[in-house]
Amino acid sequence: MASDIRNAVIDFSRMTASAVAVVSDVVRGGQPLVGFGFNSNGRYAPSGILRERMIPRLLDARPETLQAEDGTNIDPVKCRHVMMTNEKPGGHGERSVAVGTIDMALWDLAAKIEDRPLYRLLADRYNDGRFDPKVEVYAAGGYYYPGKGVDQLRDEIRGYLDMGFEAVKIKIGGAPLEEDVRRIEAVLDVVGGEGRRLAVDANGRFSLSEAIRYAEILGPYRLKWYEEPGDPLDYALHSAVAEVSTVPVATGENLFSTVDARNLIRYGGLRPDRDVLQFDPVLSYGLVEYLGTLEMLARHGWSPRRCVPHGGHPFGLHIAAGLGLGGNEAYPKVFQPFGRFAAGTTLDRGFATLPEAPGIGYERVPGLCDIFRSLVE
Ligand code: MG
Repeated sequence: MASDIRNAVIDFSRMTASAVAVVSDVVRGGQPLVGFGFNSNGRYAPSGILRERMIPRLLDARPETLQAEDGTNIDPVKCRHVMMTNEKPGGHGERSVAVGTIDMALWDLAAKIEDRPLYRLLADRYNDGRFDPKVEVYAAGGYYYPGKGVDQLRDEIRGYLDMGFEAVKIKIGGAPLEEDVRRIEAVLDVVGGEGRRLAVDANGRFSLSEAIRYAEILGPYRLKWYEEPGDPLDYALHSAVAEVSTVPVATGENLFSTVDARNLIRYGGLRPDRDVLQFDPVLSYGLVEYLGTLEMLARHGWSPRRCVPHGGHPFGLHIAAGLGLGGNEAYPKVFQPFGRFAAGTTLDRGFATLPEAPGIGYERVPGLCDIFRSLVE
């Protein structure tokens, strides 16, 4: 997954990812059904935790501790319980990423066994059968790149609009303030001067005073959102920023559990009518944990429409459609092939349709399907 891009805090020159395949004994068309998963992006491959703890626990478990009651399907909720055997609460580290990676593959497999797309399974189990036939997506890019100036940034953004995106996101905080302002104004020029079509992301870089200064500078541009102004676990900072920011505040991609998310809701001062929650189901123990996070949010008066997951993976697209979230990230030009849509996905005025293939549809993602296939050959 390595590339030369960087945000305000890290570069991706040595970035790695884990990919897993869960092979079942359910045979269709002469082939066993297989679920696929990978660990989103921005966190390194959790290979050791997968190999030493999570995979052996699943392989050693008795079948009934992994299966649905009637024995006809895998149960990701039970599997999660098995994976977390003998794990203390709290901390998380890369453990939540390892569990989330396998969780993605388990849901892919469960939907394939039911022979339908994952979003339909989720809608029926958790959303009274309701789903969104298309999901709002935005193009995350605008990274810092060696030798990249404002002209190249404009070209990149034009490319996203040509693909069918309406809204884009760029990095801030990795250059002097004046340069970031020039970048923001250049992109606004490309998107027709509409602030609601541009989000900015500081990747947790700023101190409290810097974060507030940026909030004040960004205000007049009326942007889509101001993402990760400071350290993701500094709830007092978020509360202070939310108090002054007229631009919606977005955060959550680096919170890895329902309890951490609850602390953000309790103490982060975020506003349920406008701010944006970006918990990434894969980085944070998987969809099983994410369902608990959505329940927690409902108890605190937050709509699932305020959730726009980080990660740009097709898993997030299915979750957004099946559970009625507010949208999903997309990486049309970075983190390839992990950032690609499945073949057959259409993108129109900022909304993506979902593939009707069983499961998540990774067999139809160019390049990614080859990586997954190599795991089972
Ligand atoms: Mg971000």
